Amino acid sequence: MTNIPLQQHIAPSGEQMSVRDLASCPPPEKWRDWVEYDAKAWPRKVEKHYEIIPTICFNCEAACGLMAYIDKESGRVQRFEGNPYHPGSRGRNCAKGPATINQVNDPERILYPLKRAGKRGEGKWERTTWDEALDTFAAKIRAAIVEDRRDEVMYHVGRPGHDGYMERVLGAWGVDGHNSHTNVCSSSARFGYHIWCGMDRPSPDHANARFILLISSHLETGHYFNPQAQRIIEGKMKGAKLAVMDPRLSNTASMADYWLPTWPGSEAAVLLAMARIILLEKLYNREYLRRWVNWQEYMAAEHPHEPQEFDRFIELLLDLYAVYTPAFAAAESGLAEETIIDIARQIGHAGTAFAAHTWRAATAGNLGGWQVSRALWFLSVLTGSIGTPGGTAPNAWNKFVPAPFLKPSLPDVWNEMLFPPEYPLANYEMSILLPYFLKEGRGKLAAYFTRVYNPVWTNPDGTGWIEALTNEQQVELHAALTPTWNETAWYADYVLPMGVGSERHDLMSQETHAGRWIGFRQPVLRVYKERHGEPVQFTYQANPGEVWEEDEFWIELSWRIDPDGSLGIRKYFESPYRPGAKLTIEEYYRWIFEHSVPGLPEAAASENLAPLEYMRKYGSFEIPTQKAPVFTINERELKPADLEGSQVDERSGTITRSGVKIGVMVDGKAFEGFPTPSRKLEFYSATLKEWGWPEYVTPGYTHSHVHRANIDAERGEYLLIPTFRLPTLIHTRSGNSKWLNEISNANPVWIHPIDARRIGVESGDLVRVATEIGHYINRAWVTDGIRPGVVACSHHLGRWRLETGQGADRWTSALVSLGREQDGAWRLRQLQGVQPYTSDDPDSARIFWREAGVHQNLTFGVHPDPVSGMHCWHQKVTVEAAHAGDHYGDVFVDRRKAQQVYEQWLAMTRPQTTRPDGLRRPLWMIRPYRPAASAFKR
Ligand code: SF4
Repeated sequence: MTNIPLQQHIAPSGEQMSVRDLASCPPPEKWRDWVEYDAKAWPRKVEKHYEIIPTICFNCEAACGLMAYIDKESGRVQRFEGNPYHPGSRGRNCAKGPATINQVNDPERILYPLKRAGKRGEGKWERTTWDEALDTFAAKIRAAIVEDRRDEVMYHVGRPGHDGYMERVLGAWGVDGHNSHTNVCSSSARFGYHIWCGMDRPSPDHANARFILLISSHLETGHYFNPQAQRIIEGKMKGAKLAVMDPRLSNTASMADYWLPTWPGSEAAVLLAMARIILLEKLYNREYLRRWVNWQEYMAAEHPHEPQEFDRFIELLLDLYAVYTPAFAAAESGLAEETIIDIARQIGHAGTAFAAHTWRAATAGNLGGWQVSRALWFLSVLTGSIGTPGGTAPNAWNKFVPAPFLKPSLPDVWNEMLFPPEYPLANYEMSILLPYFLKEGRGKLAAYFTRVYNPVWTNPDGTGWIEALTNEQQVELHAALTPTWNETAWYADYVLPMGVGSERHDLMSQETHAGRWIGFRQPVLRVYKERHGEPVQFTYQANPGEVWEEDEFWIELSWRIDPDGSLGIRKYFESPYRPGAKLTIEEYYRWIFEHSVPGLPEAAASENLAPLEYMRKYGSFEIPTQKAPVFTINERELKPADLEGSQVDERSGTITRSGVKIGVMVDGKAFEGFPTPSRKLEFYSATLKEWGWPEYVTPGYTHSHVHRANIDAERGEYLLIPTFRLPTLIHTRSGNSKWLNEISNANPVWIHPIDARRIGVESGDLVRVATEIGHYINRAWVTDGIRPGVVACSHHLGRWRLETGQGADRWTSALVSLGREQDGAWRLRQLQGVQPYTSDDPDSARIFWREAGVHQNLTFGVHPDPVSGMHCWHQKVTVEAAHAGDHYGDVFVDRRKAQQVYEQWLAMTRPQTTRPDGLRRPLWMIRPYRPAASAFKR
């Protein structure tokens, strides 16, 4: 059936890939000419010939494999299906993968570069040329670099969809200009993991687990939605038990053995109670803790007068967590004590096969949400299940990012609008505060790119973004790089259309399971044309209209910034094969596949293919485990050559060479350990103490801003969960998919029957949800699937457009009026819901849904956690029946109150501006885009 040896489809964890079972999947030897009957010709049997070219889905970060079926008659993509040769997704996709075809054929997609023809936000556009746009930005960026204003160039990314490419571009330019969406997404969860182990994401081996604990609706909608969901079910089929902590009965919770509808923010209390039970009942992995936890550092710092012995450490742990009784956790969370005890015991008995995951959810909702991931990792540490079969690895052990040629040196520049002094430990850029920083005059932006990012709509406090983006002193030049219209692009100077998942190159690797793989996104029509003898110089020549791919955009832009090479930028964009000539995108990836992916050249050679040809053929490659092990990497012994010239610190056992910590001595052997200051798992964080948070040196429980004590149900107050995802929508990018909008087109407010009765509403009634800075009007959905006292509203819907025929797609958006009133308040009112319309796609005349959902993020003030920097999404709200004059979809925002909320949360920080070492941030902590060590000094 296939000419790929089966061995290549066995994951390191031993799970077998399913390609042999997929009888209906075309085998690769037939991908050049796959024949099917034409469904539309039925009942006649008319053969259709397709060429199948793999690519990678771009509709979430999971990077599943897709196969594009290209109709040989029309030369167009007919459909997308899953790629069974992809190690992460193994042929399976969620609804969003095949919906890529809608995005390709969207009748309202932007096909040509646009330039504003009126004032910013006026909605007047004219077509321009790519040359004009590139030259305009090149001149602006070159001036900023030459004049040493290297903090005035900013690339602000929503969905990255690649590994490393932009970091190389920004490094070549020598700017500190990488901004991301991560502090509205995951920076808090990341902080909790990072402070333990120096890596900031978890990678559970669900398929081999005995017990799985999820703190999110992960299987349904989470970050690695489809690849992890399928492995959770595999684990369950092999006997694993599944517990889901989620106040909402999500699809995931509905599949669980235990649904744990905790009061939001109480999760860490429950986890620490479980930890205490595991300790009390001696279910912990004693040897693992003794060897790999920095208990000696804890004892020396916090208990210097106690015997510095491991057994005493365990006794002190029990003292430390004595307050976390099941009764305490039950009172905080609303769970039953017996359930907490039962699950704790099952986790303890699962031992090294305990898999756990949290992403967004509680970590993203609550002040101190990072304590949730920290407490969850504590359970993994106690059971010794870090990076074991069936356990949970740090992401870096299950991910592979190959190095490109000629890496730029790290720039000696620090942008305080990204990492300001108030947030020295922020795990990612303080993105949500950018409008405030601009307003305060902390800086300005000479050239600003929003890239697959829609902060006006996605971020909290979006009217502040509108005010910033329409201010030409604060933001001098702004381009929205986007595959589809969005609310932010409306306020840009240029809207530059970029390719969807089948129209661009990218390289991705994700921690979907216990394995390491790379996935190759490729522009399938370009590959098709080239295979058939039609040369293509740039991908846009094969894409619809003049839709570019970003990789080529950045090469072209970089070349124009430094046309003669005098700035030292051009050399990074010269071909590694043709000295002095401009790099082609084919050469960029060819070099990586030839030099940086272990095992790929050999696998390609076994099929008489060059590595690039192999990747073009299969679209992915799993690194053989002999070349890249995935389990217990901390136990990798250092080689004698590694140790040459190194010193061992007698007290801590850390091994240092050339000023860099490279490992740790454990029981007389030199191991690689973890990338932390102690090279061990940091139960005790000296970093938190040194950087102003001594009360957080060990895993603990922070009272959230929406703690139960802060919510008074009798006064009509509720806790609003605004973060949950609908599994069939893509944040702000599914507006261009008719199928996805047909499936999901409403985001009512979930409310428990007890609460609905209290305020006198039924399903479908309008309710007013009031936050601290405004309110919105939506319909109620009365359901037992939410715990009493908590209401929830998905963030996916409520798209808007300001003109009938322009702006966000008509599959998804309402026509609205949006404006600022004299007193500074902002109001949005829906003028017309979704309507059928005439286009090249007859389905646009068949649209049957009328409401576009309701936007809520405009009504949220900024809530940056003072430690992790994460926006804490949960809200204390009042919910009541709508008032006279309220309309579905109304949004009201008081900007003065928004300013007060910003100031309140800023006052919670502990700026570290007078440190004797002069550091802005601990040197050991990761930064997504890292300047030189010298830039860390003030
Ligand atoms: S899980 Fe994500 S990457 Fe996979 S098919 Fe769905 S949207 Fe695409």
